Amino acid sequence: MTGKPPGEETRKAAYLVKTARHVVVLTGAGISTPSGIPDFRSQGSGLWTKNNPMEVASLSAFRYRPEVFFAWLRPLAAQIGKALPNLAHQALADLEKAGLIKVVITQNIDGLHQAAGSQTVLELHGSTKSLTCLSCHRSVQMEQFLDEFVEQGKLPYCPNCGKLLKPAIVLFEEMLPAAVWQSAEVHCRQADLMLVVGSSLEVSPAGGLPWTALEHGAKLVILNFTPTYLDEQASVVIHADAAEILPQLAAHAMETG
Ligand SMILES: [Zn+2]
Repeated sequence: MTGKPPGEETRKAAYLVKTARHVVVLTGAGISTPSGIPDFRSQGSGLWTKNNPMEVASLSAFRYRPEVFFAWLRPLAAQIGKALPNLAHQALADLEKAGLIKVVITQNIDGLHQAAGSQTVLELHGSTKSLTCLSCHRSVQMEQFLDEFVEQGKLPYCPNCGKLLKPAIVLFEEMLPAAVWQSAEVHCRQADLMLVVGSSLEVSPAGGLPWTALEHGAKLVILNFTPTYLDEQASVVIHADAAEILPQLAAHAMETG
């Protein structure tokens, strides 16, 4: 813990959000765990303990052992399919509507920011909401395949060429989507305040974005359960649940006067 009263730190963070010109938010798994979604990339979550993620959530698994890949994806897709945005997602959507934040950059693949009403969202690791054909490049919505996949394990095939469709999530061995990454970097260079929510900043390269912002003169607010490598550099650090703190932060930031 920081040793300071969280209420005071929350007010301080709210003041920084209110007075900044270009606020960029980076979110990670911690914002979606209150919605029941396990951390897809960190060890220790149920999804990881059964299998080595590098082997099952990789491009080569998709290509050469698709049954193993889709068996890994199925419980995650089921959880994401029924998950609802929580108060932290809602608070960020409210802050955007109020004109107080410019963009949400997320490491999450669950689409919950958009479900909460956020308009400008950069999904660094893609999304489970669509599928892509690696053969003919057709993009298809996941919705039409989701029920049969989750309930019966039926795999999604391309309606155009018949090949197996790949979920539009960034797998191990895959690059981040270039245009999304570039846009995230531009925002971080323009930012005068970066708000990190629910990310331990351990996954590269996303975890380096707050450093880019700092290097270009931004202040940093970190709201995460566990310490990060940038806590020492941050103006405010709150080690707490985002779904509890972020609505308070948003309410203070949107207060008039
Ligand atoms: Zn195809």
